[in-house]
Amino acid sequence: MKEVKHYICEICGTEYNNKDRCVNCEKGHCKPVKIKGAKYLSLDRNAKGYPTSIHVEMEDGQVIAYKR
Ligand SMILES: [Zn+2]
Repeated sequence: MKEVKHYICEICGTEYNNKDRCVNCEKGHCKPVKIKGAKYLSLDRNAKGYPTSIHVEMEDGQVIAYKR
């Protein structure tokens, strides 16, 4: 009987049977640092008041837009 070892990236959940590839996956994820801005619609158009998009600063300094 063979014992099989596998690794799971703790950030994205992808499973690997190669430890180096899993370490590279974890190191490759660029994490958010803070929200730099948000866009909203009027309460007539979006009664919940949540933003329709946000701009997020990443740990590499880039600012990325995310939309609902
Ligand atoms: Zn990953």
